[in-house]
Order: sequence, then C-alpha cells, then structure tokens
Amino acid sequence: MPRTSVAVIGSGVGGLTAAHLLQRSYDVTLYEAAPRLGGHAETHTVPDGAGGSVAVDTAVMMVHARGNPHVMRLLGELGVTTRPLGDITLSVTCAECGFANPDAHDLHRPPPRPQAMPAAAWQRVTEQTKRFSDELATALGAGAADRTLQELIDAGQYTDYVVGHLIMPLMVTMGLVPADSVRRFPLGHLFETLDHNGVLAGDSGWRSIVGGTARYVERIAARLTAVLRSTPVRSVRRTARAVDVRDATGTVRSFDKAVIATHPRQALELLADPSDGEARILGSFHYAANPGVLHTDASVLPSAPGMRRTHNYRQQSCHPANATPALSIDLNRLQGITAAADHIASFNDEARRAAPAAVIATLGYEHPAWTPESAAAQRLLPLLSDHRLAFAGAYHHAGGYHEDGCLSGVRAAAALGAPW
Ligand SMILES: Cc1cc2nc3c(=O)[nH]c(=O)nc-3n(C[C@H](O)[C@H](O)[C@H](O)COP(=O)(O)OP(=O)(O)OC[C@H]3O[C@@H](n4cnc5c(N)ncnc54)[C@H](O)[C@@H]3O)c2cc1C
Repeated sequence: MPRTSVAVIGSGVGGLTAAHLLQRSYDVTLYEAAPRLGGHAETHTVPDGAGGSVAVDTAVMMVHARGNPHVMRLLGELGVTTRPLGDITLSVTCAECGFANPDAHDLHRPPPRPQAMPAAAWQRVTEQTKRFSDELATALGAGAADRTLQELIDAGQYTDYVVGHLIMPLMVTMGLVPADSVRRFPLGHLFETLDHNGVLAGDSGWRSIVGGTARYVERIAARLTAVLRSTPVRSVRRTARAVDVRDATGTVRSFDKAVIATHPRQALELLADPSDGEARILGSFHYAANPGVLHTDASVLPSAPGMRRTHNYRQQSCHPANATPALSIDLNRLQGITAAADHIASFNDEARRAAPAAVIATLGYEHPAWTPESAAAQRLLPLLSDHRLAFAGAYHHAGGYHEDGCLSGVRAAAALGAPW
C-alpha cells in the first residue's frame, strides 16, 4: 500500500517543524517559493576579515532555553547544538537631544542624566519609567491582557519624554513593528513577547545556534521525500479525496494531506475555496516589513564608551512621527562569533546609514502587527486545521516568534495524525 503523501507549503520554522514530524509517518513534499529554504531562518556565510569565513544569522539570532522548549527539543532531536550568549542588551540614542541610555533593556535601571536636564525633572523621568514597568506587570497580573499598550500609557499620564525615549524604543524593538502598531498591541501579546525574551525576569537564558539556523534547516530538508525550491504555490484545492496543489508553472500534484505554512494573508490567497471562517480569521492578520542590510560598517554603532550593545536603537528626533525598529545589531557579539571584521544587521532607518560599499546582503523580514482583532482571530486559528488540511506559522501563537512557529508546526502535524 502506498504511503500517505503530504504537501508542506512554506519552509519557515512552522513548515519545517511540521515536515520533520510528518516525514516519520508519511511521504513529505516541501514547496518553497524562494531559492533558499528557511524563511526567516537565514544564515549567511561571510568573510571573517582574516581570510576565512563565519556563519551569521540575520533574523533568528537567538533562542531562549526556558522560553523556547519546542525549538530546543527540535534542535536536540536533530543533533544541532547551541551555545550561551554573553548578553542581550539594548542601547538607545536620540540624535536630537543627545539622550543616551546604555541600559534601555532594563526599565528599572536609570539612564545617565542628560546634561541639559535639571536633576528634579530627571528624577520625575526615572520615577515614571519605573512606575510604567510596575503598572505593566500589575495590568497583566490583573488579567488585563486585552488592554492595549496605548491604554496603559494614557491611564498612566506619562510625559512625552518618557514615552518617546524610554517606553517606545524598548517596545518597538521587542515588537518589531512601528510605534503606531505597537501602541495597539494587546498587553497579553506584549507580555508573552517580553516573557519569551526573558525581559520580565531579567533572565539570561539566551543561546545562539552553532553554525546558524541553516544547520537545522538542512537536516530537516535532507530527510524529506522531495524538496521543491523556487516553486511558489499558486492554489490549494480540497477535493473529495485529496488536496490538489498547483504551482507557478501550472503543474498540479495531488496529495492526501497538506500543511499551509506561509504567512496568513498568503495562506488565504492560496485557498481555491476558502470558507467564510477561513476568510475572516486569516484575513484578520497584518504584518509590518523590516527592510534591512547585513554589513560591516561599524560606524553605525554608538561610539561613546559603554554605549555599544548587542542591539542599538537610534532615533533622529525626540518626537518621531511613527518610529520604526531602527536597530543596528552587533551580530559578532550577539552570536559569539570571533572575526576580524564586524558583522552588523541594520533595519529600517538604520539600514540607510550603512555605507553602501560595506553591504553584504539585503534583508526583508515581516513581523505580525498585533491588534485586538488579530489577537482575537489567533484564538480561533485551531478551528481551521482538520485531519486533511492544517495551517502553521509563527502567527499561530503568542507574539509570533520562532518558538511560536515551531509550536504551530507541532500542532499542524498532530492534526494530520503525526503527534510528536
Ligand atoms: C528582524 C527580526 C528578527 C527576529 N529575531 C528573532 C529571534 O532572534 N528569535 C526568535 O525566536 N524569533 C525572531 N524573529 C521572529 C521569527 O523570525 C519568526 O517568528 C519566525 O521565524 C517566522 O516563521 P514562519 O514560519 O511563520 O514564517 P517565515 O519564516 O516567513 O516562512 C514562511 C515561508 O513561506 C514561504 N512562502 C510564502 N508564500 C509561499 C508560496 N506561495 N509557495 C511556497 N512558499 C511560500 C516564504 O518564502 C517563507 O520561506 C525575528 C523576526 C524579525 C523580523
């Protein structure tokens, strides 16, 4: 009797985790639109500046030992090793007023007072910042997970200075979306994002993947029946006995089961006959783009003593209209890479500051921009998967990080009859 056949569409962590579990019982064909597998799991092999090369990750740079149990289990099963990271820290600078905070990752640690700021005014700033951190924890403890960040800011009557220099830079960095979007974040999503990232507990359980995320991507792909790179799927049609998958060349293959592991809007576009529920739920999600570059131009990093951190956020003015995650990330320091050359990933406004001659690669990642509507839709996602067609992707759980994508793949495989 022929083995059950399954198509997995999309090779991000959601699709790969599902494919890894499904291949133990079924024949799995993986479709990927891009020439490269992995989606946001992207590793670049780059010159180390001393005649050799090193592997650097540019999106999924770190996994958390406690907060990412499914990712850690997957890596362990594949024999992929991780190593502890030294620190995950955030500096914030404001080009307009000269504000410089080397400890922006910790709202309880007061930044140095800017010279122009009187001591009494500065004391109010630090008190408000600490109060915000406490009120965030209290709001979550009181089960106010559906309140938005903006509601919390309004209720606390924080000054524009505190919001613009201490609260929003951290929230935009953690949320990976512009300020207008992060203000609409339900606190529950923000909490899970901060908690997964160890921010609330001051936790330092972060690890990087030795050799980069490409290690696990390659090992999963090697076990599959077929891997179709550069093969975008155009439609998925459910028939009485099969799931028909049509790719961009017009080729149609029939499978017994399928997983759609793209972002939600793409998933909806693929469905030839979406139900009202699928259209409503998948159509509720929005993503924000984070255009970036991988480069070697260290002049984008802060030069003042003690200011250079793993993550470095810079805003041009005290009142940016809609601040984006303007980040320059020191990849060598973050991923424990020893190299003569600096390797930096800069996103949004920061990407434009890197000298063009120093650019190694352009990057394009999107992240869910959570709203109360998409948070409500996320709770309904389990209704969409059945024993024949399941959905996966980081948008299925919590804030949409790698652990969330991995868990979604586990759940999709289980829906199709392949529990872990
Ligand atoms: C700047 C940045 C940094 C991040 N850093 C971290 C981090 O350090 N740690 C962490 O845990 N998370 C991090 N994240 C979040 C993490 O990247 C995501 O949560 C997760 O990897 C996304 O996985 P996914 O499977 O949902 O989507 P993706 O990785 O985007 O995969 C979807 C795949 O589907 C493919 N596809 C789309 N349409 C089709 C089609 N029609 N046919 C075939 N294939 C298709 C796409 O090409 C893509 O490969 C970061 C995100 C960003 C933006």
